[in-house]
Amino acid sequence: MTSSPPIRAGVARDDAGAAGAAPDDGARPHVVVIGAGFTGLSAAWELVRRGVRVTVLEADPEVGGLAGTFEVQGERLEKFYHHWFTNDAHVGDLVKELGVEDRVVYRPTRTGMYFANSVFRMSSPADVLKFTPLPFIDRLRLGLLALRARAVKDWKPLEAITAEEWLVRLGGRNVYRVVWEPLLQGKFGPFASSISAVWFWNKLKLRGGSRDRTGAEMLAYYRGGFAALADRLAEEVVRLGGRIETLRPALGLDVRDGVVTGVRTSSGTIAADAVLATTSLPIFADMVEAHVEPRYVEQLRAIDYLANVCLVLELDRSLSSTYWLNVNDPGFPFVGVIEHTNFEPASTYGGRHIVYLSKYLPESAELFRMTDDEVVAYCLPYLERMFPAFDRSWILGAHVWKARFSQPIVTRHYSEMIPSVETPIQGLYLNTMAQVYPEDRGTNYAIREGRKVGAWLGGVLASTGAAPRSDSR
Ligand SMILES: Cc1cc2nc3c(=O)[nH]c(=O)nc-3n(C[C@H](O)[C@H](O)[C@H](O)COP(=O)(O)OP(=O)(O)OC[C@H]3O[C@@H](n4cnc5c(N)ncnc54)[C@H](O)[C@@H]3O)c2cc1C
Repeated sequence: MTSSPPIRAGVARDDAGAAGAAPDDGARPHVVVIGAGFTGLSAAWELVRRGVRVTVLEADPEVGGLAGTFEVQGERLEKFYHHWFTNDAHVGDLVKELGVEDRVVYRPTRTGMYFANSVFRMSSPADVLKFTPLPFIDRLRLGLLALRARAVKDWKPLEAITAEEWLVRLGGRNVYRVVWEPLLQGKFGPFASSISAVWFWNKLKLRGGSRDRTGAEMLAYYRGGFAALADRLAEEVVRLGGRIETLRPALGLDVRDGVVTGVRTSSGTIAADAVLATTSLPIFADMVEAHVEPRYVEQLRAIDYLANVCLVLELDRSLSSTYWLNVNDPGFPFVGVIEHTNFEPASTYGGRHIVYLSKYLPESAELFRMTDDEVVAYCLPYLERMFPAFDRSWILGAHVWKARFSQPIVTRHYSEMIPSVETPIQGLYLNTMAQVYPEDRGTNYAIREGRKVGAWLGGVLASTGAAPRSDSR
């Protein structure tokens, strides 16, 4: 890590005299946060709470990022299905501090697995013992695997092995072939065999830990949708003097003598004493490329991402009684069928039943490039095969959402690949979901990391008036 000269203290400048210039209220330092997802908003909140001036730039029309919503019958619904686990403590802390904990609802959910043309319930340990596609001894192995995985406390040794090696070691080849391999393939496709055991361990630990006393799975949701919480956080940022500008993408950075001085937008440059970028790594790499050594850009680009396509159907009736259906049939193009209204009631959406079909895929995949109508036409025959009673006349609405950078690919020794919060540019910091580790991305960790970095940066700026040196954390 290099140590460059500390940024000049204090005054926010507006080089271009743009409409979005930081409000000039004296010598208080000004931070531009790029991205108004949960990371950016959480960081902005911690900054404004420390008296730092903040401008949040968001490319989308609304805040919330990947947890953003659209409207169904006047109610907000996530573009990409979202829930919390009961052990998502950082969400719990945030909603308490914002005084909105009464909006979090906890409900039992039913998990299933689609395998060999049948749906198997997989919500509790008893369901595992009834999973007939596996011989009884393998069902026991599967149950024990989950327990053994949750008992792992030290994840470091898992960094050296792949999920496949670890899962075969714990549960045997047959359990891997029937249960885990299709899930890994469905989620990671061409990257499946290189996924780290750490990634899978976390999934088993978190989901397995989100249960009530009887062992039944419990999940949590925010009344009004996740974006309603993002809005509440945004309101708080604005109430404390911050600015949030939607439909205002950061187009580039101004850097002088190795120090960031502002963020370029279509309506001019916004001067900044520090900039915190919360976008995905490829977007950030494009922004910094002109100002740093190629080696740093290579490091940023070394982490691959998967894209995601979600087809959201509004139906006039329910498809099944399962909330979360893992698709363990390699012949089907989705990794999951998520019937959201088996979690949040259909009455919330004017009686409409909401079903997500989710597919993670490389950005270059054909499905990612299809038009919305083509995605619908491609997916429906599979749904008809999976649920023979389903009829297209049930469909009242269909929406297709795509996210280019939806899942960083966590390979072996991932800890060595993660770029640090400090960058080679003085005053420029990076706080993005690819840095969440050993856990995987999720709003709980976006809140944790955003708050941590915001508090650190805000604390240093508030006390010294200057952005922290890059070796000061
Ligand atoms: C299919 C799917 C399902 C998921 N399910 C869950 C779940 O059940 N529970 C859960 O907790 N999490 C879930 N997640 C993960 C969760 O949505 C993310 O981890 C979290 O929202 C990440 O927040 P973030 O702020 O780090 O990133 P993002 O939400 O990606 O925010 C980054 C923001 O930066 C903006 N941006 C990009 N470029 C620019 C630019 N040049 N200028 C200005 N702004 C820019 C983007 O528009 C975006 O708003 C899911 C994600 C996906 C894709």
